[in-house]
Amino acid sequence: MKQNRREFIETSAVVAAGLALSTGLPQVARAKGLTESRTGRGPIAVASGNGVEAVRRAVEGMTSGEDALDAAIAGVNIVEADPDDITVGYGGLPNELGVVELDSAVMHGPTHRAGAVASIRNIMHPSKVANLVRKTTDHVLLVGQGALDFAKMHGFKEQDLLTDKSREIWLLWKQKMSDADDWLPPPKEEVDPGLWNMVERWTGTIHLSARDTSGDMSCVTTTSGLFFKIPGRVGDSPIIGAGLYCDNDYGTAGSTGRGEANLQNLCSYQAVEFMRQGMGPTEAGLEVLKRVAETTKRADLLDEQGRPNFGLSFYLIDKQGRYGAATMWGPSEYAVADAEGARKEEAAFLFERD
Ligand code: ASP
Repeated sequence: MKQNRREFIETSAVVAAGLALSTGLPQVARAKGLTESRTGRGPIAVASGNGVEAVRRAVEGMTSGEDALDAAIAGVNIVEADPDDITVGYGGLPNELGVVELDSAVMHGPTHRAGAVASIRNIMHPSKVANLVRKTTDHVLLVGQGALDFAKMHGFKEQDLLTDKSREIWLLWKQKMSDADDWLPPPKEEVDPGLWNMVERWTGTIHLSARDTSGDMSCVTTTSGLFFKIPGRVGDSPIIGAGLYCDNDYGTAGSTGRGEANLQNLCSYQAVEFMRQGMGPTEAGLEVLKRVAETTKRADLLDEQGRPNFGLSFYLIDKQGRYGAATMWGPSEYAVADAEGARKEEAAFLFERD
């Protein structure tokens, strides 16, 4: 991190003490990461770690006058089209039947309008469809066949989103899943070790929040959701207030990670609300993660020390241009771009991996 070129507001001591006092969790956030980063006056974008090219594109767009939401969508479109990213768009891992179902939402700060699609099939760029829901209808969320029909009305072409790689991972998952069926897994030594590990039910997504030079903010989240999900399952990504939220007067936030935990806590709304109450972005992200940790009761979702055993992360910018990311388990990195270019920075975290 280029600390010398950026203004940092030191909140560490106060924030860390606050977290320590208010949590009953076995381990509290470390002071590390609890500084609020601030960039210069130009445009800024933050995203999940898979979004370095996306934030670069978003900042380039805003620098040449593009609206923050248009720039943000153009940024995530790069990841939606990337067959190597198995968590978003084309090449995203499918549901349990081998069908790719995508979720996406957008929120435009200046108009406070949102649009979303959930469980949409065969469309590579669900974020573009979500944006059309926002712009051309009185609704916020279209799902399934309705969302697909709507996309086709706007000229989107259907295409198979399953790549050979995502199909092979899905098939291996089916073969390995149970001894109580007729599927036989291939010998482990015959399978690419990378593929073998991918059948773990990992998650992934891209969220991108953007703020332009005048301080207008917008955000977008797009995903293929939980790997091998039950068909029709909708995660947090297309739900306004959960997978993303923007209040143009205070801040913008969005998530990646275990959608169910976020849906039960409406974290993006709450993080922006915390920013409205005066918290910095990183502090707000950590505070919602602490809520999630406190409200997670199911034994199978907790480790032996009572900590959530899943990942969840937030990416945030406030009205003053401070930005940050907070994650349940660190260390981990997120993507940032501003006048200094696109890069990865370290996210603050609630718990540290061993
Ligand atoms: N949040 C997404 C979902 O639950 C997945 C992810 O971000 O990894 O669908």
